[in-house]
Amino acid sequence: MKKIIMLTIMGICAILCFVGCENGKKPGKTIEEGQQNIESQEENVAEHSVLQENEPEEIIVPEVYHYNESGKIIIAMYHKFTSGTESDEWTRSFDNFYQDLEYLYEHGYRSVSLHDYLNNEMKVPVGCTPIVFTFDDGSKGQFHLIEAEDGSLIADPESAVGVMERFYREHPDFGLNGTFFINGTGYFGSTGTRAQKLQYLIDKGFEIGNHTNTHVNFSKASIDEIQKEIGVVVKDVAENANGYVVDTLALPFGITSKEYADYIRSGEYEGTRYENKVVLLVGANPALPVSNEDVNLMRLPRVRARGGNKEVECDLYWWLERMEKNPEMKYYRLEN
Ligand SMILES: [Zn+2]
Repeated sequence: MKKIIMLTIMGICAILCFVGCENGKKPGKTIEEGQQNIESQEENVAEHSVLQENEPEEIIVPEVYHYNESGKIIIAMYHKFTSGTESDEWTRSFDNFYQDLEYLYEHGYRSVSLHDYLNNEMKVPVGCTPIVFTFDDGSKGQFHLIEAEDGSLIADPESAVGVMERFYREHPDFGLNGTFFINGTGYFGSTGTRAQKLQYLIDKGFEIGNHTNTHVNFSKASIDEIQKEIGVVVKDVAENANGYVVDTLALPFGITSKEYADYIRSGEYEGTRYENKVVLLVGANPALPVSNEDVNLMRLPRVRARGGNKEVECDLYWWLERMEKNPEMKYYRLEN
């Protein structure tokens, strides 16, 4: 009998923890933890029902998320960053990047990872809209390490990662997510080893994606070259980040191979197999959710977060403003 009481108390604690975590620091991860609690509770319930066959079984229904399925998701695309003025449309200043995050937060966007999108697990609060951040080319402005006073390596506050970390400290419910599409020839400045740089990002919850070894133009590449360009990055990251599997690709220049697209999706290089779950374009629209049968994950569009003052059709604010005027365009979470 004592055991039954203990199990019941444990079950209640698991429920309370799950509810309390719902609006916690990291929406996706927190819910996962919550689900683990539910699983452990289900085990308790199973054991409980063996002990007390006459009592009705308690059925735990996991939380279901409903979205405005006619809406689309912005996969924002960034390239270079600067502490100065934005010299071209591919460069965002740190101040303007911070303002992008503020605008998004105030307009009900919450960040999710690319894998949250791919797994259809974008667990944002009711009324909020998920957004995915992506960064191409592994530039130093996106992320580089500096030595802290205690000797540890941290992200420079003057980097996109530094800005996101600061924003996350100030707005924990925004989430801390982004995928960095790197080239094998080098990434993220010269401080720290490849392993230290990759592991820092992964430990913070960021993702690493493939942007090919030499930023190749796939339309001019042979089958062997395509496999080498993709395989080298997959191998490099696996070796330097404890077997981390790179399974997302952003097309350099947004250009694919008409003849050999199958090898961009999957292939092998020197014994390293790869399989890309998504291939991202450079422009220029919000993406369909994976639940939509028309979604093409091998040609998934992104929206450019533009630098400079010009407003350009199909860039980030062009879309954001249209979505504010037409909220049905947003893939926002509905009441359950
Ligand atoms: Zn690029």
